[in-house]
Amino acid sequence: MTTPSPAVLADRILEGTLDACTPGDLELLLSDAVDVWAVMEAAGRVRRHRFGNRVHLCSIVNAKEGGCPEDCGFCSQSKAHATHARPGKFIPTQAAVEASARAATRHASALGLVTATRGLSDGGPDLERMIEAVRAVREAGHTEAHGSFGFLSDEALDRLVEAGLTELNHNLETGRSYFSKIVTTHTYDERIDTIRRAKARGLRTCVGGIFGMGESVADRVELAVALRELDVDEVPLNFLVSIEGTRLAGAAPLPPMEMLRIIAGFRLFLPRQNIFIAAGRTHLGQALPLIFAAGASGMMVGDFLTTPNRTVEDDLRMLDELGLVPLRCGDVRPERPASTAGPAAGRRLPVVA
Ligand code: SF4
Repeated sequence: MTTPSPAVLADRILEGTLDACTPGDLELLLSDAVDVWAVMEAAGRVRRHRFGNRVHLCSIVNAKEGGCPEDCGFCSQSKAHATHARPGKFIPTQAAVEASARAATRHASALGLVTATRGLSDGGPDLERMIEAVRAVREAGHTEAHGSFGFLSDEALDRLVEAGLTELNHNLETGRSYFSKIVTTHTYDERIDTIRRAKARGLRTCVGGIFGMGESVADRVELAVALRELDVDEVPLNFLVSIEGTRLAGAAPLPPMEMLRIIAGFRLFLPRQNIFIAAGRTHLGQALPLIFAAGASGMMVGDFLTTPNRTVEDDLRMLDELGLVPLRCGDVRPERPASTAGPAAGRRLPVVA
């Protein structure tokens, strides 16, 4: 395998070859074979071309905490783990609207309603509650309404779209080969199926993963390839925050420069997508502002589902000092290239207005 020049890859991407970075290139970019600062420089150039000084901010609210029947090894909300998370009821509709208003004051353009569930069943009260919450958040108009509800039938997806859901989050967590080491109660293909059916209904899709779970570079490349094949819209990159009581308790955080290398590699492999940094970004310490130099185009603000984040004030001050401006609800979202049907080669990388 010839060692790729990150600068040449960035040039080719900016000339319109969106898939210039091959899986083989990415494997080298994510290893120590290429200087991390060179990867970041190239990825930062692609981000600046695509997003300029605009950043996407989003917030989430735990719309139903704990007691999940799935066994994801990293998750504090799985029934399989004895953690600080306590099984709770579904969030009242008014509380969802208030969370959306709070998210808007944080300059978040979207509120993600997240339920610790295997899915929402047709005809069940839980689906009806979330449909009502989505509708209320949209009608209030503070933010877009996004959702992360687990598996959904076609009918449930249709009804959520009709209520005003604009985007579905359904992370792949890791590469296909490593997935069964992390989750045994459902399969990779089940997750992919849900994402495909959401896309077929015109929903934007938010699909990412978690790094630092013991996966290899090859596993990280597999995840990136799956995201490219699915042509998802937003890619949350999470870094494991190991939680007492989970199967991954005690795992050491990834070193900051390895985190930045992952962000930069994913930017070069997925130049169109909004790549935003979510859980675990505090592991970056003083290097946090470098996520944007490494190609990130957004971040999650406010607390995560069961773990705290930096304060919103600190995050907004950091953006201000970096000259970065949050997109607001209703602003132009990153548009898709004119043709999304065929291979990525030959499409110009659109610029976010
Ligand atoms: S499906 Fe979601 S809430 Fe349930 S254990 Fe997995 S990550 Fe946690």
